[in-house]
Amino acid sequence: MYDVCIIGSGAGGAPIAYELSRAGKRVLVLEKGRYYTEKDFFKDELAVSRRDIYTPPLDEEQHVIETQNSDGEWEAVESRKSGWNFWNGSMVGGSSNLMSGYFHRMKPNDFKLLSTYGKIEGANIVDWMIDYKELEPYYDKVEKIVGVSGRVVKHPFLEPRSSAEYPFKPTWEHPISSWFDTACQKLGLYSIPTARAVLPSDALERKGCSYSNFCGSYGCATGAKGNARSALLNKALKTGNCTILSDSFVYKIDNDGKKATKIHYYNKNGRSLHAEAKLFVLAAQAVESSRLLLNSKSSRFKNGLLNNYGQVGKNLIFSAGGSGEGRLRFEDLPKEKQNVLLLRGAFVNRSLQDWYEFEQEGKKIKGGTIDFLFEHANPTNRAMGEVYDKDLNLIWGERLQQRIKYAFIRSRKFVFEVFNDWLPTDDCFVGVDENVKDKWGVPVAKIRLNSHNHDIEVGSFLAQKAETLLKEMGAVEIRSNISSAPPPNLVAGGCRFGNNEENSVLDRNCKAHALDNLYVTDASFMPTGGSVPYTWTIYANSFRVADKILKRFHDKEL
Ligand SMILES: Cc1cc2nc3c(=O)[nH]c(=O)nc-3n(C[C@H](O)[C@H](O)[C@H](O)COP(=O)(O)OP(=O)(O)OC[C@H]3O[C@@H](n4cnc5c(N)ncnc54)[C@H](O)[C@@H]3O)c2cc1C
Ligand code: SF4
Repeated sequence: MYDVCIIGSGAGGAPIAYELSRAGKRVLVLEKGRYYTEKDFFKDELAVSRRDIYTPPLDEEQHVIETQNSDGEWEAVESRKSGWNFWNGSMVGGSSNLMSGYFHRMKPNDFKLLSTYGKIEGANIVDWMIDYKELEPYYDKVEKIVGVSGRVVKHPFLEPRSSAEYPFKPTWEHPISSWFDTACQKLGLYSIPTARAVLPSDALERKGCSYSNFCGSYGCATGAKGNARSALLNKALKTGNCTILSDSFVYKIDNDGKKATKIHYYNKNGRSLHAEAKLFVLAAQAVESSRLLLNSKSSRFKNGLLNNYGQVGKNLIFSAGGSGEGRLRFEDLPKEKQNVLLLRGAFVNRSLQDWYEFEQEGKKIKGGTIDFLFEHANPTNRAMGEVYDKDLNLIWGERLQQRIKYAFIRSRKFVFEVFNDWLPTDDCFVGVDENVKDKWGVPVAKIRLNSHNHDIEVGSFLAQKAETLLKEMGAVEIRSNISSAPPPNLVAGGCRFGNNEENSVLDRNCKAHALDNLYVTDASFMPTGGSVPYTWTIYANSFRVADKILKRFHDKEL
Protein backbone atom coordinates (compact mmCIF):
# COMPACT_ATOMS: atom_id res chain seq x y z
CA MET A 1 0.00 0.00 0.00
CA TYR A 2 1.20 3.52 -0.85
CA ASP A 3 1.23 6.34 1.68
CA VAL A 4 -0.24 8.79 -0.82
CA CYS A 5 -2.00 8.33 -4.14
CA ILE A 6 -2.30 11.45 -6.32
CA ILE A 7 -4.78 11.63 -9.21
CA GLY A 8 -3.54 14.08 -11.86
CA SER A 9 0.06 15.21 -12.22
CA GLY A 10 -0.29 18.95 -12.97
CA ALA A 11 0.21 22.09 -10.92
CA GLY A 12 -2.18 20.92 -8.20
CA GLY A 13 -0.78 17.41 -7.81
CA ALA A 14 2.97 17.83 -8.32
CA PRO A 15 3.84 19.88 -5.18
CA ILE A 16 2.29 17.11 -3.05
CA ALA A 17 4.38 14.47 -4.85
CA TYR A 18 7.50 16.62 -4.46
CA GLU A 19 7.11 17.33 -0.74
CA LEU A 20 5.81 13.94 0.37
CA SER A 21 8.36 11.87 -1.56
CA ARG A 22 11.18 14.05 -0.22
CA ALA A 23 9.86 13.42 3.28
CA GLY A 24 10.24 9.68 2.69
CA LYS A 25 6.59 8.83 1.97
CA ARG A 26 5.74 6.32 -0.74
CA VAL A 27 3.88 8.24 -3.43
CA LEU A 28 1.93 6.99 -6.45
CA VAL A 29 0.89 9.49 -9.16
CA LEU A 30 -1.74 8.41 -11.69
CA GLU A 31 -1.95 10.47 -14.85
CA LYS A 32 -4.38 9.84 -17.70
CA GLY A 33 -2.16 11.48 -20.34
CA ARG A 34 1.11 10.41 -21.90
CA TYR A 35 4.62 10.80 -20.55
CA TYR A 36 6.17 13.48 -22.77
CA THR A 37 9.56 15.00 -21.96
CA GLU A 38 11.62 17.90 -23.34
CA LYS A 39 12.73 15.91 -26.38
CA ASP A 40 9.10 15.50 -27.50
CA PHE A 41 8.49 19.26 -27.61
CA PHE A 42 10.15 20.19 -30.89
CA LYS A 43 8.94 23.37 -32.62
CA ASP A 44 7.37 21.83 -35.69
CA GLU A 45 4.39 24.00 -36.31
CA LEU A 46 2.35 21.46 -38.25
CA ALA A 47 2.98 18.77 -35.65
CA VAL A 48 2.57 20.76 -32.49
CA SER A 49 1.18 24.20 -33.27
CA ARG A 50 -2.19 23.29 -31.86
CA ARG A 51 -2.33 21.94 -28.36
CA ASP A 52 -5.07 19.49 -29.42
CA ILE A 53 -2.41 16.86 -29.94
CA TYR A 54 -1.78 16.95 -26.19
CA THR A 55 -5.47 16.49 -25.41
CA PRO A 56 -7.77 13.52 -26.02
CA PRO A 57 -9.58 13.24 -29.39
CA LEU A 58 -13.11 14.56 -28.86
CA ASP A 59 -14.56 11.48 -30.56
CA GLU A 60 -13.18 9.38 -27.70
CA GLU A 61 -13.45 11.73 -24.75
CA GLN A 62 -15.58 14.83 -24.78
CA HIS A 63 -17.69 17.16 -22.70
CA VAL A 64 -21.28 18.28 -23.01
CA ILE A 65 -21.52 22.07 -22.96
CA GLU A 66 -24.75 23.76 -21.93
CA THR A 67 -25.36 27.38 -22.93
CA GLN A 68 -28.45 29.57 -22.93
CA ASN A 69 -30.09 30.36 -26.28
CA SER A 70 -31.69 33.71 -27.13
CA ASP A 71 -35.02 32.53 -25.62
CA GLY A 72 -33.28 31.85 -22.32
CA GLU A 73 -33.49 28.04 -22.70
CA TRP A 74 -30.51 25.82 -21.87
CA GLU A 75 -29.15 23.92 -24.84
CA ALA A 76 -26.70 21.05 -24.41
CA VAL A 77 -24.27 20.26 -27.26
CA GLU A 78 -21.63 17.53 -27.28
CA SER A 79 -18.18 19.00 -27.83
CA ARG A 80 -17.54 16.19 -30.36
CA LYS A 81 -20.05 18.07 -32.55
CA SER A 82 -19.25 21.68 -31.69
CA GLY A 83 -15.45 21.23 -31.48
CA TRP A 84 -15.43 23.41 -28.35
CA ASN A 85 -12.51 21.78 -26.55
CA PHE A 86 -12.46 21.98 -22.76
CA TRP A 87 -9.43 19.73 -22.35
CA ASN A 88 -6.10 21.35 -21.55
CA GLY A 89 -2.75 19.61 -21.43
CA SER A 90 -3.38 15.94 -20.75
CA MET A 91 0.08 14.55 -20.00
CA VAL A 92 2.53 14.13 -17.15
CA GLY A 93 2.83 17.66 -15.73
CA GLY A 94 -0.64 18.58 -17.00
CA SER A 95 -1.46 21.85 -18.70
CA SER A 96 1.42 23.56 -16.92
CA ASN A 97 3.52 22.12 -19.80
CA LEU A 98 1.71 24.41 -22.21
CA MET A 99 1.29 27.54 -20.12
CA SER A 100 2.93 30.85 -20.99
CA GLY A 101 4.08 31.12 -17.41
CA TYR A 102 2.81 34.65 -16.75
CA PHE A 103 2.86 34.52 -12.98
CA HIS A 104 0.93 36.84 -10.69
CA ARG A 105 0.15 36.37 -7.02
CA MET A 106 -3.38 37.01 -5.85
CA LYS A 107 -3.59 40.15 -3.71
CA PRO A 108 -4.90 40.54 -0.17
CA ASN A 109 -8.24 41.95 -1.41
CA ASP A 110 -8.76 38.87 -3.64
CA PHE A 111 -9.14 36.74 -0.52
CA LYS A 112 -11.91 38.94 0.86
CA LEU A 113 -14.15 39.78 -2.05
CA LEU A 114 -17.38 39.71 -0.04
CA SER A 115 -16.24 41.69 2.99
CA THR A 116 -14.32 44.26 0.91
CA TYR A 117 -16.72 44.91 -1.96
CA GLY A 118 -20.06 43.68 -0.63
CA LYS A 119 -22.71 41.47 -2.12
CA ILE A 120 -23.43 41.50 -5.83
CA GLU A 121 -26.94 40.38 -6.78
CA GLY A 122 -26.87 36.97 -8.51
CA ALA A 123 -23.28 36.14 -7.52
CA ASN A 124 -22.23 33.60 -4.88
CA ILE A 125 -19.31 35.58 -3.54
CA VAL A 126 -17.67 34.56 -0.26
CA ASP A 127 -14.41 35.35 1.50
CA TRP A 128 -11.68 32.70 1.39
CA MET A 129 -11.02 30.44 4.39
CA ILE A 130 -7.43 31.68 4.46
CA ASP A 131 -5.91 35.11 3.90
CA TYR A 132 -2.99 36.34 1.84
CA LYS A 133 -0.70 36.26 4.86
CA GLU A 134 -1.16 32.51 5.25
CA LEU A 135 -0.37 31.83 1.59
CA GLU A 136 2.53 34.29 1.25
CA PRO A 137 5.30 31.93 2.46
CA TYR A 138 4.15 29.42 -0.13
CA TYR A 139 4.13 31.96 -2.98
CA ASP A 140 7.69 32.62 -1.89
CA LYS A 141 8.48 28.90 -1.91
CA VAL A 142 7.17 28.57 -5.47
CA GLU A 143 9.47 31.39 -6.58
CA LYS A 144 12.44 29.44 -5.32
CA ILE A 145 11.51 25.83 -6.13
CA VAL A 146 9.52 26.13 -9.36
CA GLY A 147 11.61 29.13 -10.39
CA VAL A 148 10.02 32.53 -10.94
CA SER A 149 12.00 35.31 -12.62
CA GLY A 150 11.26 39.00 -12.51
CA ARG A 151 11.92 42.37 -10.97
CA VAL A 152 9.94 43.90 -8.13
CA VAL A 153 8.77 47.49 -8.64
CA LYS A 154 6.75 49.43 -6.11
CA HIS A 155 3.19 50.27 -7.14
CA PRO A 156 -0.04 50.91 -5.24
CA PHE A 157 -1.28 47.34 -5.56
CA LEU A 158 2.00 45.50 -5.00
CA GLU A 159 1.22 42.61 -2.64
CA PRO A 160 3.36 42.28 0.51
CA ARG A 161 6.43 40.09 -0.09
CA SER A 162 8.72 38.30 2.36
CA SER A 163 11.64 38.36 -0.13
CA ALA A 164 12.63 41.76 -1.44
CA GLU A 165 13.43 40.46 -4.92
CA TYR A 166 12.68 37.49 -7.16
CA PRO A 167 15.27 34.71 -6.88
CA PHE A 168 15.87 34.81 -10.66
CA LYS A 169 16.65 37.86 -12.78
CA PRO A 170 14.10 38.80 -15.46
CA THR A 171 14.19 36.94 -18.74
CA TRP A 172 15.76 38.68 -21.75
CA GLU A 173 13.65 41.76 -22.27
CA HIS A 174 12.52 43.00 -25.66
CA PRO A 175 13.51 46.67 -26.19
CA ILE A 176 9.90 47.52 -26.99
CA SER A 177 9.37 47.24 -23.22
CA SER A 178 10.99 50.67 -22.92
CA TRP A 179 8.42 52.13 -25.36
CA PHE A 180 5.79 50.71 -23.05
CA ASP A 181 7.51 52.26 -20.02
CA THR A 182 7.64 55.67 -21.71
CA ALA A 183 3.95 55.50 -22.64
CA CYS A 184 3.10 54.60 -19.03
CA GLN A 185 5.15 57.53 -17.74
CA LYS A 186 3.24 59.91 -20.04
CA LEU A 187 -0.09 58.55 -18.87
CA GLY A 188 0.91 58.48 -15.19
CA LEU A 189 0.69 54.66 -14.96
CA TYR A 190 2.87 52.10 -13.21
CA SER A 191 4.63 49.83 -15.68
CA ILE A 192 5.05 46.45 -13.97
CA PRO A 193 7.61 43.90 -15.23
CA THR A 194 5.56 40.69 -15.37
CA ALA A 195 7.04 37.81 -13.40
CA ARG A 196 7.49 34.59 -15.37
CA ALA A 197 7.76 30.96 -14.34
CA VAL A 198 10.68 30.79 -16.79
CA LEU A 199 14.36 30.44 -15.90
CA PRO A 200 16.42 33.10 -17.74
CA SER A 201 19.49 30.82 -17.67
CA ASP A 202 20.55 27.38 -16.36
CA ALA A 203 19.52 26.85 -12.71
CA LEU A 204 17.68 24.41 -10.43
CA GLU A 205 19.19 21.47 -12.39
CA ARG A 206 17.32 22.72 -15.47
CA LYS A 207 18.35 24.47 -18.67
CA GLY A 208 17.66 28.15 -19.16
CA CYS A 209 15.26 29.53 -21.75
CA SER A 210 16.26 29.29 -25.42
CA TYR A 211 14.05 32.31 -26.25
CA SER A 212 12.41 30.40 -29.04
CA ASN A 213 9.42 32.76 -29.21
CA PHE A 214 7.16 29.71 -29.06
CA CYS A 215 6.07 29.46 -25.45
CA GLY A 216 2.33 29.62 -24.61
CA SER A 217 0.48 26.54 -26.01
CA TYR A 218 3.84 24.84 -26.76
CA GLY A 219 5.75 22.38 -24.62
CA CYS A 220 9.15 23.56 -23.42
CA ALA A 221 12.13 21.89 -25.09
CA THR A 222 14.65 23.06 -22.47
CA GLY A 223 12.91 22.64 -19.12
CA ALA A 224 13.17 26.39 -18.45
CA LYS A 225 9.41 26.72 -18.08
CA GLY A 226 8.29 25.98 -14.54
CA ASN A 227 5.97 23.19 -15.52
CA ALA A 228 5.05 20.61 -12.89
CA ARG A 229 7.08 17.83 -14.50
CA SER A 230 10.38 19.63 -15.10
CA ALA A 231 10.29 21.60 -11.86
CA LEU A 232 8.83 19.10 -9.39
CA LEU A 233 8.05 15.58 -10.58
CA ASN A 234 11.57 14.96 -11.93
CA LYS A 235 12.88 15.73 -8.46
CA ALA A 236 10.23 13.61 -6.79
CA LEU A 237 11.33 10.67 -8.98
CA LYS A 238 14.95 11.17 -7.94
CA THR A 239 14.04 10.39 -4.31
CA GLY A 240 13.18 6.84 -5.36
CA ASN A 241 9.92 7.17 -3.38
CA CYS A 242 7.68 8.32 -6.20
CA THR A 243 6.09 6.22 -8.94
CA ILE A 244 4.35 7.92 -11.88
CA LEU A 245 1.97 5.85 -13.98
CA SER A 246 1.01 7.63 -17.19
CA ASP A 247 -1.87 6.52 -19.47
CA SER A 248 -3.80 5.71 -16.30
CA PHE A 249 -7.32 7.10 -16.21
CA VAL A 250 -8.90 7.05 -12.74
CA TYR A 251 -12.66 6.51 -12.98
CA LYS A 252 -13.84 5.74 -9.45
CA ILE A 253 -12.90 6.37 -5.83
CA ASP A 254 -14.21 3.87 -3.25
CA ASN A 255 -14.89 4.70 0.40
CA ASP A 256 -15.90 2.93 3.60
CA GLY A 257 -18.02 5.82 4.89
CA LYS A 258 -15.15 7.44 6.79
CA LYS A 259 -12.21 7.16 4.45
CA ALA A 260 -11.39 6.80 0.77
CA THR A 261 -10.11 3.24 0.42
CA LYS A 262 -9.20 2.53 -3.16
CA ILE A 263 -9.14 4.08 -6.62
CA HIS A 264 -9.94 2.26 -9.85
CA TYR A 265 -8.23 3.11 -13.11
CA TYR A 266 -7.90 1.96 -16.69
CA ASN A 267 -4.38 1.48 -17.95
CA LYS A 268 -3.09 1.96 -21.50
CA ASN A 269 -4.43 -1.42 -22.56
CA GLY A 270 -7.90 -0.70 -21.23
CA ARG A 271 -7.41 -3.04 -18.26
CA SER A 272 -9.16 -2.03 -15.05
CA LEU A 273 -6.77 -1.96 -12.08
CA HIS A 274 -6.89 -0.52 -8.61
CA ALA A 275 -4.55 1.11 -6.11
CA GLU A 276 -4.71 1.56 -2.36
CA ALA A 277 -3.16 4.24 -0.18
CA LYS A 278 -3.41 5.77 3.27
CA LEU A 279 -4.30 9.12 1.77
CA PHE A 280 -5.65 10.28 -1.60
CA VAL A 281 -5.16 13.61 -3.35
CA LEU A 282 -7.39 14.56 -6.26
CA ALA A 283 -5.89 17.08 -8.71
CA ALA A 284 -7.38 16.34 -12.13
CA GLN A 285 -8.18 20.01 -12.92
CA ALA A 286 -11.45 21.64 -11.88
CA VAL A 287 -13.87 20.04 -14.36
CA GLU A 288 -12.47 16.49 -14.21
CA SER A 289 -12.10 16.44 -10.42
CA SER A 290 -15.80 17.21 -9.99
CA ARG A 291 -16.65 14.65 -12.67
CA LEU A 292 -14.68 11.90 -10.92
CA LEU A 293 -16.37 12.65 -7.59
CA LEU A 294 -19.84 12.71 -9.18
CA ASN A 295 -19.13 9.38 -10.91
CA SER A 296 -17.97 7.79 -7.62
CA LYS A 297 -21.34 6.85 -6.16
CA SER A 298 -21.70 4.54 -3.16
CA SER A 299 -24.26 3.65 -0.50
CA ARG A 300 -23.13 6.53 1.71
CA PHE A 301 -22.80 8.97 -1.21
CA LYS A 302 -25.71 8.14 -3.51
CA ASN A 303 -25.34 11.34 -5.55
CA GLY A 304 -21.59 11.14 -5.92
CA LEU A 305 -18.68 11.20 -3.51
CA LEU A 306 -18.71 14.18 -1.07
CA ASN A 307 -21.96 15.32 -2.69
CA ASN A 308 -24.60 14.67 -0.02
CA TYR A 309 -25.39 18.38 0.06
CA GLY A 310 -25.22 18.92 -3.70
CA GLN A 311 -22.04 21.02 -3.50
CA VAL A 312 -19.77 19.10 -5.89
CA GLY A 313 -19.40 20.85 -9.25
CA LYS A 314 -21.08 24.06 -8.06
CA ASN A 315 -19.65 27.56 -8.56
CA LEU A 316 -17.35 26.75 -11.44
CA ILE A 317 -15.35 29.82 -12.42
CA PHE A 318 -12.98 30.90 -15.16
CA SER A 319 -10.76 33.89 -15.63
CA ALA A 320 -13.01 36.67 -16.98
CA GLY A 321 -11.84 39.35 -19.38
CA GLY A 322 -10.59 38.88 -22.90
CA SER A 323 -7.96 40.33 -25.16
CA GLY A 324 -7.16 43.16 -27.54
CA GLU A 325 -4.58 44.27 -30.06
CA GLY A 326 -3.08 47.17 -31.97
CA ARG A 327 -0.76 47.28 -34.98
CA LEU A 328 2.62 49.00 -34.96
CA ARG A 329 3.32 49.93 -38.60
CA PHE A 330 6.81 50.31 -39.97
CA GLU A 331 5.77 53.36 -42.05
CA ASP A 332 4.93 55.23 -38.83
CA LEU A 333 8.35 54.58 -37.29
CA PRO A 334 11.95 55.73 -37.82
CA LYS A 335 14.42 53.09 -39.08
CA GLU A 336 15.93 52.30 -35.67
CA LYS A 337 12.50 51.61 -34.21
CA GLN A 338 11.64 49.38 -37.19
CA ASN A 339 14.75 47.34 -36.40
CA VAL A 340 13.59 46.99 -32.80
CA LEU A 341 10.33 45.50 -34.02
CA LEU A 342 12.19 42.95 -36.12
CA LEU A 343 13.97 41.51 -33.09
CA ARG A 344 12.57 38.05 -32.18
CA GLY A 345 12.95 35.87 -29.14
CA ALA A 346 12.95 38.31 -26.22
CA PHE A 347 9.89 38.65 -23.99
CA VAL A 348 7.87 41.84 -23.51
CA ASN A 349 6.84 41.04 -19.91
CA ARG A 350 4.85 44.12 -18.97
CA SER A 351 1.58 44.46 -17.05
CA LEU A 352 -0.70 47.11 -15.64
CA GLN A 353 -2.50 46.80 -12.33
CA ASP A 354 -3.39 50.47 -11.83
CA TRP A 355 -7.07 49.51 -11.78
CA TYR A 356 -6.84 46.42 -9.58
CA GLU A 357 -9.39 48.37 -7.57
CA PHE A 358 -11.15 51.53 -8.76
CA GLU A 359 -14.06 53.76 -7.82
CA GLN A 360 -17.26 54.27 -9.71
CA GLU A 361 -20.02 56.54 -8.43
CA GLY A 362 -18.40 56.56 -5.02
CA LYS A 363 -18.31 52.75 -4.85
CA LYS A 364 -15.18 50.60 -4.67
CA ILE A 365 -15.04 48.13 -7.56
CA LYS A 366 -12.70 45.19 -7.92
CA GLY A 367 -10.78 45.58 -11.19
CA GLY A 368 -7.96 43.46 -12.57
CA THR A 369 -4.71 42.87 -14.41
CA ILE A 370 -3.70 43.62 -18.01
CA ASP A 371 -0.73 41.72 -19.48
CA PHE A 372 0.98 43.07 -22.62
CA LEU A 373 2.92 41.02 -25.16
CA PHE A 374 3.57 40.58 -28.86
CA GLU A 375 1.10 38.46 -30.75
CA HIS A 376 2.09 34.78 -30.69
CA ALA A 377 4.87 33.95 -33.16
CA ASN A 378 2.96 31.02 -34.64
CA PRO A 379 2.69 31.98 -38.37
CA THR A 380 -0.63 30.21 -38.99
CA ASN A 381 -2.10 32.02 -36.05
CA ARG A 382 -0.70 35.34 -37.28
CA ALA A 383 -2.05 34.79 -40.79
CA MET A 384 -5.47 33.88 -39.36
CA GLY A 385 -5.45 37.20 -37.54
CA GLU A 386 -5.54 38.96 -40.91
CA VAL A 387 -8.65 37.40 -42.41
CA TYR A 388 -10.97 40.18 -41.24
CA ASP A 389 -10.64 43.84 -42.15
CA LYS A 390 -11.11 46.64 -39.63
CA ASP A 391 -14.92 46.52 -40.08
CA LEU A 392 -14.76 42.77 -39.40
CA ASN A 393 -15.57 41.84 -43.04
CA LEU A 394 -14.00 38.59 -44.23
CA ILE A 395 -11.36 39.10 -46.91
CA TRP A 396 -9.76 36.60 -49.27
CA GLY A 397 -7.74 36.10 -52.49
CA GLU A 398 -5.06 38.57 -53.51
CA ARG A 399 -6.20 41.18 -50.99
CA LEU A 400 -5.68 38.69 -48.18
CA GLN A 401 -2.28 37.68 -49.60
CA GLN A 402 -1.16 41.31 -49.65
CA ARG A 403 -2.46 41.86 -46.18
CA ILE A 404 -0.62 38.83 -44.78
CA LYS A 405 2.59 39.91 -46.52
CA TYR A 406 2.25 43.40 -45.07
CA ALA A 407 1.50 42.01 -41.61
CA PHE A 408 4.58 39.79 -41.65
CA ILE A 409 7.18 42.18 -43.03
CA ARG A 410 5.93 45.73 -42.47
CA SER A 411 4.16 45.64 -39.10
CA ARG A 412 3.94 43.85 -35.79
CA LYS A 413 0.94 43.40 -33.52
CA PHE A 414 1.13 44.31 -29.87
CA VAL A 415 -1.57 42.60 -27.85
CA PHE A 416 -3.01 42.57 -24.36
CA GLU A 417 -4.90 40.12 -22.15
CA VAL A 418 -7.35 41.24 -19.49
CA PHE A 419 -7.88 39.19 -16.31
CA ASN A 420 -10.70 40.00 -13.91
CA ASP A 421 -12.96 38.03 -11.57
CA TRP A 422 -15.47 35.61 -13.06
CA LEU A 423 -18.15 35.87 -10.40
CA PRO A 424 -19.51 32.46 -9.30
CA THR A 425 -23.21 32.01 -10.07
CA ASP A 426 -25.84 29.27 -9.70
CA ASP A 427 -25.77 28.71 -13.45
CA CYS A 428 -22.12 27.87 -13.92
CA PHE A 429 -21.37 24.36 -12.74
CA VAL A 430 -20.16 20.85 -13.59
CA GLY A 431 -22.47 17.84 -13.64
CA VAL A 432 -22.27 14.54 -15.49
CA ASP A 433 -24.29 13.42 -18.50
CA GLU A 434 -25.35 9.82 -17.85
CA ASN A 435 -26.29 9.42 -21.53
CA VAL A 436 -22.97 10.49 -23.00
CA LYS A 437 -20.04 8.20 -22.24
CA ASP A 438 -16.35 8.30 -23.07
CA LYS A 439 -14.36 5.47 -24.71
CA TRP A 440 -14.26 3.61 -21.37
CA GLY A 441 -18.05 3.87 -20.93
CA VAL A 442 -17.73 6.48 -18.15
CA PRO A 443 -20.29 9.37 -18.13
CA VAL A 444 -18.68 12.62 -19.31
CA ALA A 445 -18.74 15.99 -17.60
CA LYS A 446 -21.57 18.33 -18.50
CA ILE A 447 -20.54 21.94 -18.09
CA ARG A 448 -23.18 24.62 -17.75
CA LEU A 449 -21.77 28.02 -18.67
CA ASN A 450 -22.99 31.35 -17.48
CA SER A 451 -21.26 34.58 -16.59
CA HIS A 452 -22.35 37.60 -14.61
CA ASN A 453 -22.82 40.95 -16.43
CA HIS A 454 -20.54 42.55 -13.88
CA ASP A 455 -17.60 40.55 -15.30
CA ILE A 456 -18.07 42.06 -18.75
CA GLU A 457 -18.49 45.58 -17.38
CA VAL A 458 -15.21 45.34 -15.47
CA GLY A 459 -13.41 43.63 -18.38
CA SER A 460 -14.58 46.32 -20.82
CA PHE A 461 -13.44 49.06 -18.47
CA LEU A 462 -9.97 47.51 -18.31
CA ALA A 463 -9.81 46.93 -22.07
CA GLN A 464 -10.53 50.62 -22.69
CA LYS A 465 -7.60 51.55 -20.48
CA ALA A 466 -5.35 49.12 -22.34
CA GLU A 467 -6.46 50.59 -25.67
CA THR A 468 -5.45 54.07 -24.47
CA LEU A 469 -1.98 52.75 -23.76
CA LEU A 470 -1.66 51.13 -27.19
CA LYS A 471 -2.68 54.46 -28.75
CA GLU A 472 0.00 56.28 -26.77
CA MET A 473 2.56 53.77 -28.10
CA GLY A 474 1.56 54.70 -31.64
CA ALA A 475 -0.48 51.60 -32.54
CA VAL A 476 -3.32 51.72 -35.06
CA GLU A 477 -6.22 49.33 -35.83
CA ILE A 478 -6.76 49.01 -32.09
CA ARG A 479 -9.55 46.69 -31.01
CA SER A 480 -10.53 44.47 -28.13
CA ASN A 481 -12.82 41.57 -27.49
CA ILE A 482 -14.30 41.22 -24.03
CA SER A 483 -16.93 38.53 -23.92
CA SER A 484 -18.68 36.03 -21.70
CA ALA A 485 -16.92 33.12 -23.46
CA PRO A 486 -14.82 31.30 -20.86
CA PRO A 487 -11.13 30.54 -21.44
CA PRO A 488 -11.12 26.73 -20.84
CA ASN A 489 -7.44 26.84 -19.80
CA LEU A 490 -8.10 29.09 -16.79
CA VAL A 491 -10.70 27.18 -14.81
CA ALA A 492 -11.31 26.81 -11.08
CA GLY A 493 -14.01 26.06 -8.50
CA GLY A 494 -16.42 23.14 -8.29
CA CYS A 495 -15.21 21.90 -4.89
CA ARG A 496 -15.02 25.07 -2.79
CA PHE A 497 -13.46 25.17 0.58
CA GLY A 498 -15.69 26.48 3.34
CA ASN A 499 -16.73 25.94 6.92
CA ASN A 500 -19.23 23.09 6.57
CA GLU A 501 -20.56 20.32 4.34
CA GLU A 502 -23.76 22.20 3.61
CA ASN A 503 -22.04 25.08 1.81
CA SER A 504 -18.77 23.58 0.60
CA VAL A 505 -16.90 20.37 -0.20
CA LEU A 506 -13.54 20.94 1.48
CA ASP A 507 -12.29 22.34 4.76
CA ARG A 508 -9.69 25.12 5.06
CA ASN A 509 -6.88 22.60 4.44
CA CYS A 510 -8.55 21.24 1.28
CA LYS A 511 -9.48 17.99 3.03
CA ALA A 512 -12.96 16.69 2.24
CA HIS A 513 -15.43 17.56 5.02
CA ALA A 514 -17.00 14.13 4.59
CA LEU A 515 -13.91 11.87 4.49
CA ASP A 516 -10.81 11.85 6.63
CA ASN A 517 -8.15 11.06 4.02
CA LEU A 518 -9.25 12.66 0.74
CA TYR A 519 -7.84 16.04 -0.37
CA VAL A 520 -8.46 18.12 -3.51
CA THR A 521 -5.54 20.36 -4.51
CA ASP A 522 -6.14 21.62 -8.04
CA ALA A 523 -7.98 24.93 -8.52
CA SER A 524 -11.31 23.31 -7.53
CA PHE A 525 -10.99 24.61 -3.97
CA MET A 526 -11.06 28.28 -5.05
CA PRO A 527 -14.36 30.02 -4.22
CA THR A 528 -13.29 33.10 -6.22
CA GLY A 529 -10.34 33.35 -8.54
CA GLY A 530 -8.77 36.76 -8.15
CA SER A 531 -7.99 39.00 -11.09
CA VAL A 532 -4.90 37.10 -12.20
CA PRO A 533 -4.19 33.76 -13.92
CA TYR A 534 -4.36 30.97 -11.34
CA THR A 535 -1.27 28.81 -11.54
CA TRP A 536 0.99 30.48 -9.00
CA THR A 537 -1.86 30.25 -6.49
CA ILE A 538 -2.54 26.58 -7.33
CA TYR A 539 1.12 25.71 -6.80
CA ALA A 540 1.34 27.75 -3.58
CA ASN A 541 -1.81 26.26 -2.08
CA SER A 542 -0.69 22.76 -2.95
CA PHE A 543 2.61 23.33 -1.12
CA ARG A 544 0.56 24.62 1.85
CA VAL A 545 -1.62 21.51 1.86
CA ALA A 546 1.48 19.29 1.59
CA ASP A 547 2.67 20.78 4.90
CA LYS A 548 -0.70 20.01 6.52
CA ILE A 549 -0.59 16.42 5.25
CA LEU A 550 2.99 15.95 6.42
CA LYS A 551 2.04 17.16 9.88
CA ARG A 552 -0.72 14.56 10.03
CA PHE A 553 1.74 11.83 9.08
CA HIS A 554 4.16 13.17 11.66
CA ASP A 555 1.42 13.23 14.34
CA LYS A 556 0.57 9.61 13.38
CA GLU A 557 -3.00 10.61 12.48
CA LEU A 558 -2.74 8.60 9.25
C1 LIG B 1 -2.08 27.36 -23.41
C2 LIG B 1 -2.11 27.62 -21.94
C3 LIG B 1 -1.53 28.78 -21.44
C4 LIG B 1 -1.55 29.03 -20.06
N1 LIG B 1 -0.90 30.15 -19.60
C5 LIG B 1 -0.89 30.39 -18.25
C6 LIG B 1 -0.18 31.51 -17.74
O1 LIG B 1 0.48 32.24 -18.46
N2 LIG B 1 -0.23 31.75 -16.39
C7 LIG B 1 -0.93 30.94 -15.55
O2 LIG B 1 -0.95 31.20 -14.34
N3 LIG B 1 -1.60 29.85 -16.02
C8 LIG B 1 -1.60 29.57 -17.34
N4 LIG B 1 -2.25 28.44 -17.82
C9 LIG B 1 -3.07 27.64 -16.89
C10 LIG B 1 -2.31 26.55 -16.15
O3 LIG B 1 -1.74 25.64 -17.02
C11 LIG B 1 -3.31 25.85 -15.22
O4 LIG B 1 -3.86 26.82 -14.33
C12 LIG B 1 -2.71 24.77 -14.33
O5 LIG B 1 -1.91 23.89 -15.05
C13 LIG B 1 -3.85 24.01 -13.67
O6 LIG B 1 -3.33 23.05 -12.78
P1 LIG B 1 -4.18 21.73 -12.42
O7 LIG B 1 -3.36 20.89 -11.54
O8 LIG B 1 -5.53 22.17 -11.96
O9 LIG B 1 -4.45 21.03 -13.81
P2 LIG B 1 -3.45 20.43 -14.87
O10 LIG B 1 -2.14 21.10 -14.78
O11 LIG B 1 -4.13 20.45 -16.19
O12 LIG B 1 -3.30 18.93 -14.38
C14 LIG B 1 -4.38 18.05 -14.33
C15 LIG B 1 -3.90 16.69 -14.81
O13 LIG B 1 -4.85 15.70 -14.40
C16 LIG B 1 -4.98 14.75 -15.44
N5 LIG B 1 -6.26 14.06 -15.27
C17 LIG B 1 -7.49 14.55 -15.51
N6 LIG B 1 -8.42 13.62 -15.23
C18 LIG B 1 -7.76 12.53 -14.78
C19 LIG B 1 -8.19 11.26 -14.34
N7 LIG B 1 -9.49 10.95 -14.25
N8 LIG B 1 -7.25 10.34 -14.00
C20 LIG B 1 -5.92 10.65 -14.06
N9 LIG B 1 -5.47 11.86 -14.47
C21 LIG B 1 -6.39 12.80 -14.82
C22 LIG B 1 -4.87 15.59 -16.70
O14 LIG B 1 -4.53 14.79 -17.82
C23 LIG B 1 -3.80 16.60 -16.33
O15 LIG B 1 -2.53 16.17 -16.71
C24 LIG B 1 -2.22 28.14 -19.18
C25 LIG B 1 -2.78 26.97 -19.70
C26 LIG B 1 -2.72 26.70 -21.06
C27 LIG B 1 -3.35 25.42 -21.56
S1 SF4 C 1 12.57 27.56 -23.91
FE1 SF4 C 1 11.79 29.50 -23.13
S2 SF4 C 1 10.48 30.32 -24.79
FE2 SF4 C 1 10.81 28.14 -25.20
S3 SF4 C 1 9.01 27.12 -24.26
FE3 SF4 C 1 10.71 27.05 -22.76
S4 SF4 C 1 10.37 28.87 -21.50
FE4 SF4 C 1 9.17 29.17 -23.36
